[in-house]
Amino acid sequence: MPTPTAFFQGAFVPLEQAKIGVMTHAFNYGTAVFEGVRGNWNAEQDELYLFRVREHVQRLRQSAKIMRLSLRFSDDELVDMVREVAKRSGYCEDVYIRPMVYKSSEAVGVRMHNLDDDFLLFVTPFGAYLDPEAGARCATSSWRRVDDNSIPARAKVTGLYVNNAMAKTEAQLNGFDEAILLNQDGHVSEGSGENIAIFRHGRLISPPAQDNILEGITLDTAIELAQRELGIDIERRSIDRSELYIADEIFMTGTAAHVTPVVEVDRVPIGDGSPGPISKRLQTTYFQMITGRLPQYSDWLTATYGRAPVGAKP
Ligand code: PMP
Repeated sequence: MPTPTAFFQGAFVPLEQAKIGVMTHAFNYGTAVFEGVRGNWNAEQDELYLFRVREHVQRLRQSAKIMRLSLRFSDDELVDMVREVAKRSGYCEDVYIRPMVYKSSEAVGVRMHNLDDDFLLFVTPFGAYLDPEAGARCATSSWRRVDDNSIPARAKVTGLYVNNAMAKTEAQLNGFDEAILLNQDGHVSEGSGENIAIFRHGRLISPPAQDNILEGITLDTAIELAQRELGIDIERRSIDRSELYIADEIFMTGTAAHVTPVVEVDRVPIGDGSPGPISKRLQTTYFQMITGRLPQYSDWLTATYGRAPVGAKP
């Protein structure tokens, strides 16, 4: 039986004991930064592989720096703590681990200074986010992506996610699976919880960081796999909304969504309206890799229980 565990106020505790007070600053003002780390279950190996924990820890630190939040643990300590919270929780299924740095003071007043910061972790079971087989039906959102001069999208700030939540809800209430947000200039930015990439003229094209995206770890991984395994050239440049409609293929990437083909945008079918062949190959390779079936990529994986045969770090 799993034992859901959190790291809260400096100790590993049962998840149900990890509670914050109603006056907590981060709860009132969205003054926290967070990460999402996937644990991917491999039943044959009886192992839960955590994906690119170090990169998530590094991005958490960058988000914290931008937001003037202090993180008292080193990268090595944080990597160990992520593994420890997963190990203590004992899940034998796909999970999602949430590290967070937050303004923990119980204080009223809008500011970032003169407040206490704390760090927490929790784990929750988490299956498919978007349908990986059917692909996603997307709509361009009427909500614009937050600008770097409003709330920096490269920082994973809890309060920023109301922008994403509004877009996701609008898309779903209108009968779509996912939103695609345009930035202030009208260029394609990203999904509500995913980066986006297109195939056109034989190249993989994805918006640059300057188009107000989260600098995605799954996108970085997909790009590397596309180059190394499929021999595809990459281009980082702005994408117009109309270019989505005529793309050969589109896919989204994210810790929750993995690699998900996009089959429709604003009711325009992408390609023939079914998941594209390159997106599917990339998705298959990605799934093999995150479940520890491609030993050449084992440096990206952390084996939670240390039962993995070869390759992945214990
Ligand atoms: N954009 C947004 C807004 C997200 O929330 C996420 C998920 N973290 C992503 C992109 C994808 O980033 P990653 O692949 O690092 O999870």
